[in-house]
Amino acid sequence: MAAGPPRQREDVAFSERLAELDRNHLWHPYAPLPAAMAALPVRSAKGVYLELFDGRRLIDGMASWWCVIHGYRHPKINAAIRDQLGRLPHVMFGGLTHLPAVELAQRLIGLLPEGLDRVFLCDSGSVSVEVALKIALQYQLARGERRRRILTVRGGYHGDTFGAMSVCDPVGGMHHLFRGFLPKQLFLPRPPGPVEADPDPRWVAAAERAFARQGKEVAAVIVEPIVQGAGGMHFYAPGYLQILARLARDHGALLIFDEIATGFGRTGTLFALERAGVVPDLICVGKALTGGYLTLAATVTTAAVATTVCRGEGGALMHGPTYMANPLACAAALASLALLAEGRWQEQVARIEAGLREGLVPAQRLPWVREVRVLGAIGVIEGKGEVDVAKATAAAVGKGVWIRPFRNLIYAMPPYVIAPAQLKRLCSGMVAAVAACS
Ligand code: PLP
Repeated sequence: MAAGPPRQREDVAFSERLAELDRNHLWHPYAPLPAAMAALPVRSAKGVYLELFDGRRLIDGMASWWCVIHGYRHPKINAAIRDQLGRLPHVMFGGLTHLPAVELAQRLIGLLPEGLDRVFLCDSGSVSVEVALKIALQYQLARGERRRRILTVRGGYHGDTFGAMSVCDPVGGMHHLFRGFLPKQLFLPRPPGPVEADPDPRWVAAAERAFARQGKEVAAVIVEPIVQGAGGMHFYAPGYLQILARLARDHGALLIFDEIATGFGRTGTLFALERAGVVPDLICVGKALTGGYLTLAATVTTAAVATTVCRGEGGALMHGPTYMANPLACAAALASLALLAEGRWQEQVARIEAGLREGLVPAQRLPWVREVRVLGAIGVIEGKGEVDVAKATAAAVGKGVWIRPFRNLIYAMPPYVIAPAQLKRLCSGMVAAVAACS
């Protein structure tokens, strides 16, 4: 099926020129320079579609790395940013404040479990993790405890800055490349799936042993609740979070939930923590916070933690990015949260979950496939071997679909506004990508 209108020769030539300049001069995420695969030049985007310079239109199955939940160029978010642009595009947050930041903090506090009401606004998910780790270390110091380790589980991903990297999966995160520089953290085995399972007693025993041995060194425990994203698109049961919460509490460690990927409805509940009924001491949110418009994240903690940190040496939290609480980003976030508050996301995510379950059935029959799993607006096809990314991407693009497979995973996390026919097309693009690997 042709993706979009016929391509004009001059558009194709211009697009190829852009791709070539890009390939020679720009780094892309986790890619060599020059890149092995030329990047596709995008001219514009609307709704769920990416519009390429060469005239093709692709359904974005990635929602731009899971952020664009309401679709591209949403009129309400566009208007909110334009309106804010006319008043205050940016102002330093040291000693000054502004309406979008205050309103956003209030809105976030209203959405999060009671008690999480001290908000640090920062530039990206990785930075919000750094801030959470810093808060934990300063908190412990303020209590007279020189705890210097963070405990987590294997298979996690928390970002690309050094503190965040130190709690990513040691193999997937290539810790050996940074040996001697990266702090050494404590890792429990990955909690096994599926979401419906009872916690494995062997895992629980291993966790209890680790805490008994080194619990006194642990400043905080950090995990992605229910869904581990970039570390492997792995789903696990809420019971593990309850166990980690108990062990952290019993050993004087703080509990940090990284909901940067799972927050704002992606897994079917507004936050993944709701499935476990556990309230952490800190939560990190980002990605979909601005509906995929501007980079913004938040680390939110309790009054007890914040007060303790500020009673300690220095009397303050030692962090302050230049673009902290950028008003344009806050305005985008307010508009995105207002759209979520309209409540349609619940039905949209439920519909996507049903559509992915049905649309990915044909993948189950293909020889390359080990498992197909779906949770909320996340559909994952796990293969028995590495994906041939070039072949898989070309097969999906041929169907008018943009996906970005990695390792042995072909997956989708589309915008919530994807229509049933578009979702069908997305699934057929994923199945075509699998067929190209089989
Ligand atoms: N934490 C999780 C769970 C993530 O999925 C990501 C990004 O994929 C991050 C942290 C890092 O966020 P950012 O890329 O905005 O720095």
